[in-house]
Amino acid sequence: MVRIARERVSSLFVLAQREATTGHPELADRYVTLARRIGMRYNIRLLAEYRELYCRSCSSFWLEGRTVRTRLRSGRRIRTCLKCGRERRTRVRGRTPERGAGPWADPRGAPRLEAALVSELPGEGESESSGDESEEE
Ligand SMILES: [Zn+2]
Repeated sequence: MVRIARERVSSLFVLAQREATTGHPELADRYVTLARRIGMRYNIRLLAEYRELYCRSCSSFWLEGRTVRTRLRSGRRIRTCLKCGRERRTRVRGRTPERGAGPWADPRGAPRLEAALVSELPGEGESESSGDESEEE
């Protein structure tokens, strides 16, 4: 049963990935919600590579530059959900986590997890030049 649940979670994230990149972000968010619910019901931890992909607060699928903003600052990676504003901070280790290990190896629209850390899409209308240095925890 747990194995089936894991497979279902995987396929839901694949679907979420696809919908997010084909212009149905609300479906992607829905798939994330379902995947998390399955994970909770069967008490399985979502894989680390999946846990990188969504907001823990509002369950929105994180698509780099669209629904999440990633900044590297003083050895930490700060990802800000652009929907609910929640920040998620992780330490950046010297070691690069395995890249492209997800179920999608498709480079076209996939969020290149660690590779895309310093990249951003232009012009979301937000200003991020001010105050950035002072919100260190
Ligand atoms: Zn959020």
